Amino acid sequence: MQTLFDTQTRHDRHGRYCQAVTVEDFQHNLAAVRARVDAACRRAGRDPAAVRLLPVSKTKPEASIRLAYASGCHLLGENKVQEAHRKWEAMQDLADLRWSVIGHLQTNKAKLVARFAAEFQALDSLRVAEALDRRLQAEGRSLDVFVQVNTSGEASKYGLVPEDVPAFIQALPAFSALRVRGLMTLALFSSEAERVRQCFVQLRILRNRLRQSAPAGIGLDELSMGMSGDFEIAIEEGATVVRVGQAIFGARALPDSHYWPNESATEEPS
Ligand SMILES: *Cc1c(COP(=O)(O)O)cnc(C)c1O
Repeated sequence: MQTLFDTQTRHDRHGRYCQAVTVEDFQHNLAAVRARVDAACRRAGRDPAAVRLLPVSKTKPEASIRLAYASGCHLLGENKVQEAHRKWEAMQDLADLRWSVIGHLQTNKAKLVARFAAEFQALDSLRVAEALDRRLQAEGRSLDVFVQVNTSGEASKYGLVPEDVPAFIQALPAFSALRVRGLMTLALFSSEAERVRQCFVQLRILRNRLRQSAPAGIGLDELSMGMSGDFEIAIEEGATVVRVGQAIFGARALPDSHYWPNESATEEPS
């Protein structure tokens, strides 16, 4: 969409997102993404205030994160727990900088998440729920969580298969330190918008169905779906949280296969 403003994150001559290297770059990119979020909301007849933009800082160095913070990002998404924890420790001076863990968690790292995370978006097993709850109780904390659903059918993607989600949701009230907020998914990586859209539609339909039988205290208002390449489609299908990395921070040097093992790299080599 082209308007009178410059509403796009800038790309280099290889079509990759340019690195944000100043506070002004971050301000520009944030405003550009927000403008696209708002425009997608208006197209879908939705209130822009109902969509939260979660900037994703994975792989980005501390210097870059400090610039993002200075431009107003106070909650950042990270895919890997240890990377997030390392950054949390390094930036203790930024007292109101909070971290959302958006990637698969192994039970042996639940302790770390319970200590520092403000939100966990990739809950996908009762073992992790149990480990997290136990650690949170010990810390005297509670945590906002999203249940991750595999809507693409790809073996490489984490998340519960949709059929298993209803029983999983019924079991969650046992873990009183987990505040369940909704569902999260990663769509198929595809240039075919219709196939991407079907992943988001599936998550919304599943959520609507679950709502009718959700146990007391289990919130299903949130749908975390959409990334740099597909967030407008996700918003049209009901996303309340979009997780956007490269369109704000710039392209990542590491291929996505580093974050979604077994998947062939989809990005060009840098
Ligand atoms: C990296 C990541 C994103 C953001 O992807 P971009 O292409 O950088 O916007 C969103 N969600 C998850 C789970 C991620 O790991």
